[in-house]
Amino acid sequence: MTEAIAVLNAGSSSLKFSVFAAVDGDLQLRLRGQLERLFTAPKFVGKDADGVVLSEHTWPVGFQLGHEGAMAHLTAFLDAHTDGLRIKAFGHRVVHGGVEFAEPVCVDPATLKRLEAFVPLAPLHQPNNLLPIRLLLESGTKAAQVACFDTAFHRDQPLIAQMYALPHEMTATGIRRYGFHGLSYEYIASVLAQHDERAAAGRTVVFHLGNGASMCAIHAGRSVATTMGFTAVDGLPMGTRCGSVDPGVLLYLMDQRGMDARAIEKLIYHRSGLLGMSGVSSDCRVLEESDDRNAKLALDHFCYRAARELASLAGAMGGLDAVVFTAGIGENSPTVRAKILEQASWLGVDLDREANAVRGFARISARASRVNAWVIPTNEELMIARHAWRVIHA
Ligand code: ADP
Repeated sequence: MTEAIAVLNAGSSSLKFSVFAAVDGDLQLRLRGQLERLFTAPKFVGKDADGVVLSEHTWPVGFQLGHEGAMAHLTAFLDAHTDGLRIKAFGHRVVHGGVEFAEPVCVDPATLKRLEAFVPLAPLHQPNNLLPIRLLLESGTKAAQVACFDTAFHRDQPLIAQMYALPHEMTATGIRRYGFHGLSYEYIASVLAQHDERAAAGRTVVFHLGNGASMCAIHAGRSVATTMGFTAVDGLPMGTRCGSVDPGVLLYLMDQRGMDARAIEKLIYHRSGLLGMSGVSSDCRVLEESDDRNAKLALDHFCYRAARELASLAGAMGGLDAVVFTAGIGENSPTVRAKILEQASWLGVDLDREANAVRGFARISARASRVNAWVIPTNEELMIARHAWRVIHA
């Protein structure tokens, strides 16, 4: 039997999974897939490592398949497609580890209770992330449950970077910047030396630009500052999230437009960002192909904000050796990368336009550029599998 790790990423309407087999000290992808559109039009697809579909299932529109039903379907799929593998652990993506969890942790019922205490800090994500852990613990499986946190990589940032200028008592009770996308940044930090040894030992800003978007200043492999804060709505504009806005705007909306907390939540998480600015779509590809004036303005503003944050994060490190683009937009949009880096030329980034336009090129800066620019695909699932493996063998 070959030992294996299953990775679960449970969102509000989807359950993504992958399975890695441990072969010769390496974790090799064997299965991946997802159950998406839970509660509305559920659809399951499970594939092998080459993307060949092994199993598909579609439920009728409106079928109330929730996370529990999704887990039952997934468990049956895993039972049927893991011959020769023994799943030793499930690695779970968990958005929040609070101030307490700076490392992945093996979860027992008592730990699960401590993780549930962070639900108020991430009410839209944390309950979904924890549900599969609870179900698997209750199932009596022998496999370990390892929680890997999106906040953990940022936990040893200097206090000066983590605090808000609010009364000290508030910082002390956990009202502070946590930062997210930590598993993606940690993965990039783990492979950066293969591309750029100087940057891995020096100062790098990583652009994680997907539906959710943030940036991180990494100095010698450690996070020193990031654009997301107390919640994952802060920092850059995103697909539907607004990013940083003056808190005074929210007070104004409450006072003058009678909006309550739920209405504001809907506005800043679901109706803003690229979607709100353009009125067209939250999807970068759609906006790039659109002739609409506001679609162009939305993309321009997105790039402008990213370029401003780049200077801010370089400032936090006292300089810059490299930038890295990753996630859906970062890996796939030469237009967005070029727009951001054009505004950053004063920082010493000299873009190689041809390399930037070619898919699959890692280095997109000119050879003589003082600051290197890279495109490196992220792999949060592999990072989680590595963590889970390490935790169970510690
Ligand atoms: P999530 O945060 O949900 O994981 P992804 O990392 O998958 O998101 O990124 C999704 C975003 O990537 C979408 O805005 C999508 O339009 C964008 N994207 C994907 N492929 C391309 C492409 N070829 N050109 C431009 N944008 C792209």
